[in-house]
Amino acid sequence: MSAKRKPILEVNGLKKHFSVKDSLGRTKGLVKAVNDVSFTLYEGETFGLVGESGCGKSTTGRTILRLIEPTEGTALFNNQNIFQLSNSDLRKVRKDLQMVFQDPYSSLNPRIRIGNALEETMIIHNLGTKKERMETVMEILNKVGLQEDHYYRYPHEFSGGQRQRIGLARALVANPKVIVCDEPVSALDVSVQSQIINLLRKLQNEFKLSYLFIAHDISVVRHISDRIGVMYLGNMVEDAPTESLFASPLHPYTKALLSAVPLPNPGVKKERIVLQGEIPSPLNPPSGCIFHTRCPYVKDVCRTVVPVRKEAAPDHYVSCHLV
Ligand code: SF4
Repeated sequence: MSAKRKPILEVNGLKKHFSVKDSLGRTKGLVKAVNDVSFTLYEGETFGLVGESGCGKSTTGRTILRLIEPTEGTALFNNQNIFQLSNSDLRKVRKDLQMVFQDPYSSLNPRIRIGNALEETMIIHNLGTKKERMETVMEILNKVGLQEDHYYRYPHEFSGGQRQRIGLARALVANPKVIVCDEPVSALDVSVQSQIINLLRKLQNEFKLSYLFIAHDISVVRHISDRIGVMYLGNMVEDAPTESLFASPLHPYTKALLSAVPLPNPGVKKERIVLQGEIPSPLNPPSGCIFHTRCPYVKDVCRTVVPVRKEAAPDHYVSCHLV
């Protein structure tokens, strides 16, 4: 690990459980949406969070920003635990921690012009005078590849790719340090996806941003991430620098995910690992290793003992009894 890298966000032992009630309002169980997630995001870098739909990666992003309250754990941003901040301190920190959603259209008011919608973010954070806010919005529209006249247009006048640029602009006007990007390109065509990924990289350099990039497609995550964390059923099972994860994946679930990624050279063949069975319900997760019901290498110990997260190679962490 380079001595120059400085952590900007350190998440430890994050849990988010939702109680499930019966028709009489009595608690009948807990959905363990996020059950054990720890990782570090370094300044100016991207941490990719990947896993199948429903594995808890979006809940992780939202809980870190306290859009929903955590059940347990810590999230240190510049050495302050976000989970212990008072409401007024949280409001101050939120300026630095912005979020980009999969569908920015749904969070835009169809009757408000884009320029005014972007200015609203600045008003919430008490940034600039009216004139300064307009100037900033015009500048950011240019930075995300839109034009100044887009300031006066309404949300329905934009394409999917343009709306995602607006989503980015809305995060950027607050001049944040960290942006949580929740499936920002999943709804876009492949050609538009790469435009947005390239834009994210350009903006990262220009604004010295750190990203938590959440997506279900590991090949998309690979293009932008310095490190990747693999989630399964609310748990982070492996996290490592991107190159290390692709060159030598250690967890059987990561190996299965990577076996489904097409190789650049179609002449080279690799064996596809097809996992058997369904993902278990987070309402009743398996005992021991969370992955044991689908793991091709399962042993007796896996059914009863939870594997501990360990550093199996420099900066490469995994939770598996085999490693
Ligand atoms: Fe498979 Fe056991 Fe490793 Fe879990 S701990 S991934 S069941 S080998």
